[in-house]
Amino acid sequence: MTVVVGGGPAGAAAAWHLARAGHAVRLLERDSAPRDRICGEFVSVEAQAVLRAMDIDPAALGAPAIDRLRLVSGDRVAEAPLPFRAYGLTRKTMDAAMLDRAAGAGAVIERGVTVREIGGLRLATDAGAIDAARLVLASGKHDVRGAKRVSRGTVTDLIGFKSYFRLAAAPAAALAGHIEIMLFAGGYAGLQLVEGGRANLCLLVERRRFDAAGGWPALQQRLRRDCRHLGERLDGAVELLDRPLTVAGVPYGFRYRPRPDDLPALYRVGDQCAVVPSFSGDGMAIAMHSGRAAAAAIVAGVDARAFHAACRAEFAGQMRTARALYRLGQPAWLQPLIVEAAKAWPGLATRLAAWTRIPGVG
Ligand SMILES: Cc1cc2nc3c(=O)[nH]c(=O)nc-3n(C[C@H](O)[C@H](O)[C@H](O)COP(=O)(O)OP(=O)(O)OC[C@H]3O[C@@H](n4cnc5c(N)ncnc54)[C@H](O)[C@@H]3O)c2cc1C
Repeated sequence: MTVVVGGGPAGAAAAWHLARAGHAVRLLERDSAPRDRICGEFVSVEAQAVLRAMDIDPAALGAPAIDRLRLVSGDRVAEAPLPFRAYGLTRKTMDAAMLDRAAGAGAVIERGVTVREIGGLRLATDAGAIDAARLVLASGKHDVRGAKRVSRGTVTDLIGFKSYFRLAAAPAAALAGHIEIMLFAGGYAGLQLVEGGRANLCLLVERRRFDAAGGWPALQQRLRRDCRHLGERLDGAVELLDRPLTVAGVPYGFRYRPRPDDLPALYRVGDQCAVVPSFSGDGMAIAMHSGRAAAAAIVAGVDARAFHAACRAEFAGQMRTARALYRLGQPAWLQPLIVEAAKAWPGLATRLAAWTRIPGVG
């Protein structure tokens, strides 16, 4: 029996592929029901390929299409076509659909079970101890005691916020079909529509800037003032969550490095395997792709060390590009110049969006 810890995109993809290959799979998910997640909810072409294989069609779930990118700094706005059609689909809908498909393929999905500790192939859960023949660790942003990631050398000083808004008619019409990336001192924000006519505002900001602003309402006010574009988009908007979803300490740039003492039957997937800077909008694709690859490795009898080494090599180029672009976009003085360059050469933004994808997937 293979036990999958976590029912996000990585765990669900792994469970579906294993079950389809005839393997006995048990997936443990700590949340007892689908819920909102902190995520920009930009579903890239690579993620769509995995969803399609699972017979999940974002458009049929009501997700609006996204074909163009707007890059914003202060009053400057550059626009370019995306190199593919993306979709805006909430994680609440997408994760539930993926788990439904995994269950339909024969995986046993147990919701409301939290894994407290991993000791070898024995799991301590709040529903008792579980012994696994193989383990797929797909707990995402959350490390599990006994199997924590070592995230030295990564960028961990950012705090993430996500909220939904009902925009006024004119800003909603202007946003339709676009992902808007707004650069500001100490961070960036992404704004796009998702199903149900809502707008997802997801942003990352340096902790010290957040502390200086003094909380989410003050930060939001400040960004609306400093970035006129965001101010116009949110003018007359209604925030739909009582408080934003938040995350801190995400180790951007992390790629799991295999160690000699790794268990040969413990496969790390998704954010437990690699964490790409969020603006690339490809984290879910990496998660699904690594889940699928772990399942293929298990079916083929490839041990976890070889699997992790292959993942590390596969994601190296994409991670390097995304990290370099993240660093380039950081200095506030450079941000307007980047947008001016994107205005002068619209093909540049399209090319950059293509460079931050997993090569050969899609
Ligand atoms: C601010 C932000 C914006 C992002 N925007 C985008 C975007 O627009 N597009 C994109 O493609 N990617 C985006 N990403 C990246 C993407 O969200 C992640 O890469 C992706 O969710 C990783 O999937 P996962 O399955 O590994 O983990 P997760 O999605 O984190 O799922 C892990 C699952 O495991 C469960 N779990 C955790 N611990 C336990 C436990 N101990 N026991 C049982 N269950 C457990 C959780 O409840 C959860 O369901 C963004 C990330 C951030 C932080």
